[in-house]
Amino acid sequence: MDKKSVIIIGAGIGGLALAGMLGKKGYKVTLIEKNEMVGGRARIFNDQGFTFDMGPSWYMMPDVFEHFFEILGEDIKSHYHLERLSPSYQITLKSDGKSYKFYSDMQKNKELFESIEPGSGEVLEKFLTETKWQYELSKAEFMYKNYNSIRDFMTLRIMRQGSKLPLFKKQKQIIEKKFKSEILRKTLQYQTVLLGTAPGDTPGIYTLMNYVDLVLGEWYPSGGIRAIPTALENIAKKYNTEILLNSPVKEIIVESDVAKGVRLQNGKEIFADIVVSNADIWHTDTMLLPKDYQTKSDKYWNSRVLAPSAFILYLGVKGKLPQMEHHNLLFTKDWERGFGQIFKRPEWPDDPSMYICVPSKTDKLIAPEGDENLFVLVPIASGLEYTEDFAAEYAEKVLSEISQYYSIPNLKERIVVKHMYSVKDFIADYNAFKGTALGLAHTLSQTAIFRPNNIHPKIKNMYYVGAGTNPGIGMPICLISAELAYKRIENITHPFPLEKI
Ligand SMILES: Cc1cc2nc3c(=O)[nH]c(=O)nc-3n(C[C@H](O)[C@H](O)[C@H](O)COP(=O)(O)OP(=O)(O)OC[C@H]3O[C@@H](n4cnc5c(N)ncnc54)[C@H](O)[C@@H]3O)c2cc1C
Repeated sequence: MDKKSVIIIGAGIGGLALAGMLGKKGYKVTLIEKNEMVGGRARIFNDQGFTFDMGPSWYMMPDVFEHFFEILGEDIKSHYHLERLSPSYQITLKSDGKSYKFYSDMQKNKELFESIEPGSGEVLEKFLTETKWQYELSKAEFMYKNYNSIRDFMTLRIMRQGSKLPLFKKQKQIIEKKFKSEILRKTLQYQTVLLGTAPGDTPGIYTLMNYVDLVLGEWYPSGGIRAIPTALENIAKKYNTEILLNSPVKEIIVESDVAKGVRLQNGKEIFADIVVSNADIWHTDTMLLPKDYQTKSDKYWNSRVLAPSAFILYLGVKGKLPQMEHHNLLFTKDWERGFGQIFKRPEWPDDPSMYICVPSKTDKLIAPEGDENLFVLVPIASGLEYTEDFAAEYAEKVLSEISQYYSIPNLKERIVVKHMYSVKDFIADYNAFKGTALGLAHTLSQTAIFRPNNIHPKIKNMYYVGAGTNPGIGMPICLISAELAYKRIENITHPFPLEKI
């Protein structure tokens, strides 16, 4: 019998991953992408010998990537090699100007913690044992599960052991009870930004990110982050996925509760048995679906907690920067005020925290010989407004701070390539709701059963994949979202990771 045809709207990590899975299973897949290349937020661009990964730069949860390639029968090493970063990152505090290097090596971190706060080495070790258990339980019981109702949350194991899970405490509360010094508290809290939330609003279960960070570690794939969408694209093509680029979808065609296909902005219609959207979930609901099939009201969307947007600088810098590591974090003096400006009282941060990635420290091929490739990111509130002049001034401020805190007096004169990217670009490039960089934040009320589901409630052959649905934000998590969408389509109801396709 002929296998069904599938249209996937959007070639982000989730869309690409699902295309490979369905392709391998024998579906006829068409992947339709508005931009000029695949990868979505994990795209690249080149300028004067510098190659910039435009979005993600932290390769975390290597076990999840490995599992994904394994179920497809692929050897991940035939696609890219991984290098463990050591140190994992450097953190600098604006309050005292001091820098600290952290590793995914228990002994080194214990010694560092002890030297900062006597007794904290033991506390760290115990904490990471607890968070390891949380991570493994979450992978086994929550992450690879499709939810239909709140009852799906309660498995036998959760009923027996769930009381040990910090579901109702907040991440900040847990960390601050265990650690007292500014640097340790901030180091153990910043990961929540990767989930799009402030530590004070993040469910305690996400302290599992501390295990992911400090034990599983940070890695760099050969060829840069772009190696991931490239690998996924190659697998999708191996299984005959047709990829249409520069093809924005204008609407999803639905008749009598059945999705028939899509109409592109150029008027062309493409039909299939199944439609999946990897595009922003708000954009899909409010702009691509016919009015009768929109699932949420404006009130719902406007009351969502959005993950931050970002003010990004892509810089090519002449000469080397020995002051920097691969990952560098510079933390504001007033942490609460900083998070407040992102999540509570949206305004441009006046004393911003920032992240500076210098991947040319690890990868010699992404900058001309002897030069450095910098990605600078300031988390800002989604929906912030600005003029081009304001953005240019803000860039100057950010560069002055990098010069000051990393002692690079001539940084500005050494910049040979400079591009800015912010809220308006996220809207224009990805149809992102209010220009959010990441999507819906991982607050308790936007997690698992409370996050938009990956199946349309009324259109039975319409599904979702990517950061907007379950489990949520981040490249490895989007690979899991592809597995969840695959299970929906193939009617696989067990809650465990797949063994093979
Ligand atoms: C600046 C930044 C830093 C990040 N850092 C990290 C990190 O370090 N580590 C990590 O793991 N994750 C990180 N993330 C998050 C991670 O990149 C995302 O969660 C993930 O890549 C999202 O994948 P997705 O499948 O949801 O698709 P997206 O990347 O959102 O792609 C969706 C695709 O749909 C397309 N599309 C939209 N509308 C239409 C339409 N109408 N027609 C056709 N196509 C359409 C878009 O063009 C896009 O290509 C970061 C993200 C950003 C932006």
